[in-house]
Amino acid sequence: MSTQLEVLKQHLIDPEVCIRCNTCEETCPVDAITHDSANYVVNADICNFCMACISPCPTGSIDNWRNVLKSQPYSVEEQYTWGELPAQGTIAVPATSESDSVSATPPKAGPASMTQPAPGDDTAGEASGIEVDVVRGSTMPPWSAARPYVNLYTHKAPITATCAGNYRLTANETGGIDTDVRHIVLDFGQLPFPVLEGQSIAVLPPGETAAGRAHHARQYSIASARDGERRGYNNLSLTVKRVTPSDKGDTDGGICSNYLCDLKKGDQVQVIGPFGATFLMPNHPNSHLLMICTGTGSAPMRGMTEYRRRRRAPGKGGATGKLMLFFGARTKEELPYFGPLMSLPKDFIDVNFAFSRTPGQPRTYVQDVMKKRSTDIAAMLKDDNTYIYVCGLKGMEEGVIQVLADIANESGQPWESLWKKLKDAGRLHFETY
Ligand SMILES: Cc1cc2nc3c(=O)[nH]c(=O)nc-3n(C[C@H](O)[C@H](O)[C@H](O)COP(=O)(O)OP(=O)(O)OC[C@H]3O[C@@H](n4cnc5c(N)ncnc54)[C@H](O)[C@@H]3O)c2cc1C
Ligand code: SF4
Ligand code: SF4
Repeated sequence: MSTQLEVLKQHLIDPEVCIRCNTCEETCPVDAITHDSANYVVNADICNFCMACISPCPTGSIDNWRNVLKSQPYSVEEQYTWGELPAQGTIAVPATSESDSVSATPPKAGPASMTQPAPGDDTAGEASGIEVDVVRGSTMPPWSAARPYVNLYTHKAPITATCAGNYRLTANETGGIDTDVRHIVLDFGQLPFPVLEGQSIAVLPPGETAAGRAHHARQYSIASARDGERRGYNNLSLTVKRVTPSDKGDTDGGICSNYLCDLKKGDQVQVIGPFGATFLMPNHPNSHLLMICTGTGSAPMRGMTEYRRRRRAPGKGGATGKLMLFFGARTKEELPYFGPLMSLPKDFIDVNFAFSRTPGQPRTYVQDVMKKRSTDIAAMLKDDNTYIYVCGLKGMEEGVIQVLADIANESGQPWESLWKKLKDAGRLHFETY
């Protein structure tokens, strides 16, 4: 007698990348997605693979799949306990006296002990001794971070903010710079919207897609301190880059960034969030911040820097830790907040710029400038009070990780173990998009 081997490509969410924004849960038409205080998970018994949740997810963490035996998917309870996704393994079909029959209790995909590839499993065989080739950041906040509020406002019940200001940050319209990055202030009036530096919000742009569905929310990092863009006011700021058609000739994108960049003072904006419970700053006053960013990735760094500046004032917390910033842009005219950054006291923050398109100058990227400052970075890496934040375009991650690894190894701090220590202690954070 032989039993049919039924394999399920199980839909899973990567807990290391997910920012717990709730978009997928609200999008799923059959309520297959749920969450607890730790993770967002997909119930294999309910998911019908409609794929409605895939494109709205701002991080791509929703787009993960593992082959498992249909009779033994990862349960919701099990997924709640994960700190990372299990590796894709092969599905064991233990030999029995009944030739090709399947064991009643074969293991699930994952452990390297699995032996026989499942039908249609094109990643089978990579499971044994699989190496994590991507350096991931922490899935927990710094121990001293303030406790964040998340998901207070949802797609079904958003909060209405009022645009209190919209200023162009990158050279003015006649300055010959195409890149349009805006500093946008949103005010929440009398409604509660508590945030921390490093969190983000999402904006629901008005209108519909060509298919007649509401546009999905887009995520934006908060660029101000927890006590308001203007201290004591119930407002926050964003740093938004106007997205323009790519050279592929697209014509139907840039929905939310163009909407935000065109806001006038007094316009109303539908907001959800706040989101993010890990990319948060430490609160102990002697903690050091090593901040590395490009373009609008400067938004959370601005919020953290401003909060530290406010706490540094006599009688306001006496923060003494070091701040070191590496900030990359094409030219200084395209670097948001260039002027204000230049005017910060040198004994408060150590600012290092990298410009990749300054006429007549060699192309310089953040990792090049970091290399030049390797002695100081190595000293910061040695200090258990140092917290690292990387934010900006996806493409920057690899170069930054490489240079951190080189500096660590060359200063006698083996990167493999240092990375693990930083990650486990909530001291290494990435937010790239
Ligand atoms: C955690 C997180 C934080 C983020 N923080 C920020 C932030 O602080 N600041 C920020 O600016 N962004 C931030 N983003 C990115 C932001 O969420 C949006 O993805 C971005 O603003 C683009 O959204 P959009 O609606 O304008 O573009 P979409 O409508 O989503 O279009 C995307 C693509 O369509 C193409 N396109 C096609 N036609 C056109 C057209 N006519 N005009 C323009 N583009 C076109 C473009 O190539 C574009 O890349 C963040 C993302 C994440 C995940
Ligand atoms: S694929 Fe469809 S059914 Fe499955 S979780 Fe996503 S939205 Fe829900
Ligand atoms: S980032 Fe948001 S949409 Fe994506 S999986 Fe996580 S909660 Fe869902």
